[in-house]
Amino acid sequence: MKLICIGRNYTDHIKELANERPNDPVVFIKPDSAILPKEQDFYIPEFTNEVHHEVEVLVKIKKVGKHIDAKFAASYYDEVSLGIDFTARDLQTELKSKGLPWEKAKGFDGSAVVGNWVEKSKFSDLNNLEFSLKKNDVVVQHGNTSLMLWKIDELIAYVSTFFMLKKGDIIFTGTPAGVGKVAPNDYLAGELQGQQLFSVKIK
Ligand code: ZN
Repeated sequence: MKLICIGRNYTDHIKELANERPNDPVVFIKPDSAILPKEQDFYIPEFTNEVHHEVEVLVKIKKVGKHIDAKFAASYYDEVSLGIDFTARDLQTELKSKGLPWEKAKGFDGSAVVGNWVEKSKFSDLNNLEFSLKKNDVVVQHGNTSLMLWKIDELIAYVSTFFMLKKGDIIFTGTPAGVGKVAPNDYLAGELQGQQLFSVKIK
């Protein structure tokens, strides 16, 4: 399986990194080895001095699909969750400045936290989901899916024109503002509609 990640999907986050607003979704992939095993601590890798948390709504693909029309995209997923796209920001900034791919800064081992899955039918409107990330019990990121530049179904349509989606693939739908550095002994917890779906300790 693969993790398909969307960058720059919330205007407030685009501003905080001084990025340009894209004409199309920014897409990158993390390998399946990036998934942090459940209940495991996150160890800051030695190749970076600046790992940022990016809390994101996740969507799990349930069947194979290619060139999916946005109006049928809802039939390709039943479950949503919340996770973290850990990013070695110092390395990413260096790679970006050289015009090089981001994979080393985004796809390293443990860089993808995947929370518990929730049936989408539990929510009345997937385009109005509140979510937040707490660091040491203080809210550091807060978002709502209504603020996405591209909604979940549009993202599925877009990415499936490039990558065949397969059962079990996970889409990371982008982060709102408030990304920040993590340090050893930090404790992160993510909530979707008031329900905690993951927690992770930083080492
Ligand atoms: Zn991200």
